[in-house]
Amino acid sequence: MPKYSRIKPGHLLGQQWFEEATLRTHADAYVQYLTERGYARETVECYFRSVAHFVHWISKRDINLCDINESTVNQFLDRHLPHCRCAPRCRHTGTDVRAD
Ligand SMILES: [Zn+2]
Repeated sequence: MPKYSRIKPGHLLGQQWFEEATLRTHADAYVQYLTERGYARETVECYFRSVAHFVHWISKRDINLCDINESTVNQFLDRHLPHCRCAPRCRHTGTDVRAD
């Protein structure tokens, strides 16, 4: 486990989703990025879970990273989240997952 990683064992599903999308190195880099910029552990974990969820969704739909655009993000927020069955504790609203 890298020294900078603050991901708890309870976030293994998020790690698994990144791995399924073959984006494991990006998961580590994302956590490092937020941690180095002084984000609180809870915030890092919240962002990590939200991004892992999005990664899981695009990988299930065979959407490539380079094809992600505003419309893709809106589909995720407005169509997927309200009906999400990905995991029992997934966030079902766009409030916490939208970039402000
Ligand atoms: Zn979902």
